[in-house]
Amino acid sequence: MGFNTEALHKGLVKDESFGATITPVYQVSAFGYKDMETLERVFGGKSSGFAYTRIGNPTVASFESRINALEHGFGAVATASGMAAISHGLMNFLSAGDNIIASAGLYGGTIQLFSIFKQFNISITYTSDFSHENLEKLYKENTKAIFAETIGNPSLTVIDIASIAEFAHKKGIPLVIDNTTATPFLVTPIDLGADIVIHSSSKYINGSADAISGVVIYSGKFKWDFDRFPALKEYKAFSNLSYLVRLRKDFWASMGGCLSPFNAFLNIIGLETLGLRIQKINDNARILAEELNNIEGISVNYPLLKGNSNRELAQRQLKGYGGGILTISTGSREKAFKLINSLKTAIIASNIGDVRTLVIYPATTLFLHNTKEEMNAAGVFDDTVRVSVGIEDIEDLLADFRQAIL
Ligand SMILES: *Cc1c(COP(=O)(O)O)cnc(C)c1O
Repeated sequence: MGFNTEALHKGLVKDESFGATITPVYQVSAFGYKDMETLERVFGGKSSGFAYTRIGNPTVASFESRINALEHGFGAVATASGMAAISHGLMNFLSAGDNIIASAGLYGGTIQLFSIFKQFNISITYTSDFSHENLEKLYKENTKAIFAETIGNPSLTVIDIASIAEFAHKKGIPLVIDNTTATPFLVTPIDLGADIVIHSSSKYINGSADAISGVVIYSGKFKWDFDRFPALKEYKAFSNLSYLVRLRKDFWASMGGCLSPFNAFLNIIGLETLGLRIQKINDNARILAEELNNIEGISVNYPLLKGNSNRELAQRQLKGYGGGILTISTGSREKAFKLINSLKTAIIASNIGDVRTLVIYPATTLFLHNTKEEMNAAGVFDDTVRVSVGIEDIEDLLADFRQAIL
């Protein structure tokens, strides 16, 4: 099946009662049972069913099943936000004293989360060089994961998933990929060897920017060494699935970051048109990047532009696409503000992945809490404008940006 067919038909949970074509919103906290014996079996995992929405809900389960199908995973757990997906997805298997190798120029919120990890004695080693030679230098006995974004937001650095996965597996550690900016339409990291895939589904998956949400998808393939990952030891009997079983039955349920059924429903609607939107957004972004880059006085960072260091990898790994984000180097903070304030169609907002084109000056907003080094590593400088391209007609976008720049 092609992506668009899969988005509509794969992982579907059939409604036996009325034949509803998508799973309705089960906006309830708890589920009633006809007798105590049945509820006892549900609690013990001996019967399928739902007891309490923090632990499971049919609408949320339907979203999990469908995004899992698109990402070619073994199982997925939906969370209250992308940040909940990253924090839960990592802390489920890490212990105090562990180290993570992470790509420099991550999403600002993730960098902030990682600074909080210090409180639990989990250290982060940032790098923008994922060659095996450099990774070998950075790797330590206590390194327990590699974390990277498929297309860095907003550094727009594309990482070679297959190559990093090969290194991680040689060391017996999992590769965790934040695939928010690429989406499974551009790449399914699990097929390239990633073990855990994370999304802020608030962005492209949802599409219309109407529900904060996240999801952790697990490959089901990683061979856990339980002496090196003692957090999962209690779940040893589940062997390669111990990560997923602990996440669902214990960690995520106990940390409490569950997704609201209504938000899951909105994400299901979004997911069905993901392919169409991503194709249009990527086509728009490429044309906008090429056209704006020709204008004197500004320069554009976009993976597919000629001379961009990410071009070859994007073409090979992302089906020839470059993503929906571009940044514009305007020359000064004043010029950046003037450009942003002169736009008529694009909306000034901190989000990405909306159907609408959004713009922001990241230096003093998204990177307010980051150091200058962290900001520059993310490709953000005093004159940078970030654009999250939408599905508007390209002629209108070009006209809007041209009048704002000239
Ligand atoms: C937005 C975003 C997040 C955080 O997701 P929320 O849903 O806002 O919590 C994480 N990673 C990336 C790449 C993002 O763009």
